[in-house]
Amino acid sequence: MKFIETRGNDGIHSQEITFSEAILSPIASFGGLYVPKALPELGEAFLTKHLNSSYKVLAKDMLMTLGIDIEESVIDEALALYDKFDDPTNPVPVVKVRDDLYVSELYHGPTRAFKDMALQPFGIVLSSIAQKRGEEYLILAATSGDTGPAALETFKNRPNVRVACLYPDGGTSDVQRLQMVTEDAANLKVIGIKGDFDDAQSALKRLLSSPTFNDALKAKKISLSAANSVNFGRIIFQIVYHIHSYLELVRQNVIQMGEKVYLDVPSGNFGNALGGFYAMKMGLPVEKIIIASNENNVLTRLINTGRYDLRGESVVATTSPAMDILISSNVERILYDFFGAERTKELMSALESNRFYALSDDETMKLQKVFAADYCNGAEGKGYIKEAFDHGYLMDPHTATCFKAFDCCATQKIKTIVYSTAEWTKFSPTIANALSGEVDSRDLDALESISKTAKMPIPNMIKELFSKPIAQPVVIEKEDIEKEILSFL
Ligand SMILES: *Cc1c(COP(=O)(O)O)cnc(C)c1O
Repeated sequence: MKFIETRGNDGIHSQEITFSEAILSPIASFGGLYVPKALPELGEAFLTKHLNSSYKVLAKDMLMTLGIDIEESVIDEALALYDKFDDPTNPVPVVKVRDDLYVSELYHGPTRAFKDMALQPFGIVLSSIAQKRGEEYLILAATSGDTGPAALETFKNRPNVRVACLYPDGGTSDVQRLQMVTEDAANLKVIGIKGDFDDAQSALKRLLSSPTFNDALKAKKISLSAANSVNFGRIIFQIVYHIHSYLELVRQNVIQMGEKVYLDVPSGNFGNALGGFYAMKMGLPVEKIIIASNENNVLTRLINTGRYDLRGESVVATTSPAMDILISSNVERILYDFFGAERTKELMSALESNRFYALSDDETMKLQKVFAADYCNGAEGKGYIKEAFDHGYLMDPHTATCFKAFDCCATQKIKTIVYSTAEWTKFSPTIANALSGEVDSRDLDALESISKTAKMPIPNMIKELFSKPIAQPVVIEKEDIEKEILSFL
């Protein structure tokens, strides 16, 4: 599989690159991203073949079919990390919660959020490419709370890779922050930023293209990469669970092979939804992909009106903070797929200079053939959490946004796969508030309360965080990031 660029080629970058090159240097010409030149058609034969495959067998065959330049032994080692999930025989359970609504639980990995699905194997792949080339890499990760813990967890003590992780101070839950600041390894640096997630993400983008920073790295013989979902090394692992979840429904006799489903995805940077889109392109029977958002509803407006409009907008802090994003990076890959490189470059430069672009009516209709969208506010989300709990299911506020989108967008009577992206333990104050009305300012109080109400134990890996020493105390202004990272190196 070869990769090409969403904004066309500038004559400096290569016209086409391999998977491992796209992983090492994820930013393409004109600030664009890399996308597969072509995707294979997997079709029903592939699905039927894997009807009774384990997650790992399915994932391996898909990766081999895509033809990536990663040795088979490395792929095996990467996929073996799914053995660390709660149930190694099925890392992603799919459970019925309502009529026609099935929840695919993507959070059973070590950091209790769906970022583990891709970052766990990605860590092995990147570190092995770096070792093979005898090169040192710095991963810069900007996180709104879940990418950071998952990236730190996967790269901890791995050879030839260091991680500097930026998070918005006050913009994450206690558990997320503790998962990061208690990580103690010489190759990890965690930095709190005074600002929001978009500040952290744009600081990261600036660093990736800063000449002084790059010169300093060159002198130290360290190259830069990124572990956020602009990196295709993450997206590729996110295609697998959409196929797996579909097959789970066939196995459970909920649908017949070939029957169409809705995918209902709580979205921020659009990596999860993009994985579903690629699965659909490769032949997964999907009627539509429903994009669920919170009050930061730029994706809802894009899909329903064709306008990406950030004029006068700023990020609002919500009860589903992993989706508090206005600049949703992977939308660019969808634009490329629908409208080609020239148009994508035009739209993305309009967004960068005017904070606005508008698709034509024709383009908007094309988008709406594949996507539907709605958003859910905090109060509605809590209502859905309470209602699901009263019917025996405990879910987090990100997952709850999908229930609203299901009510609004699943207009045909077909089965819907809702993706649950975080365990209840990661956003406990909101959940405790939804269940009993209580207001907890500390995660620990909320965890204990929910645990009692739901008669579910607090998982050990979460409980232990509260007594671990803080290894990463730094919180700084965003202007000081470059200096701070250079001193870590
Ligand atoms: C990252 C994240 C999302 C958003 O996923 P994208 O792939 O960025 O759209 C949703 N929910 C949770 C809990 C997350 O951690």
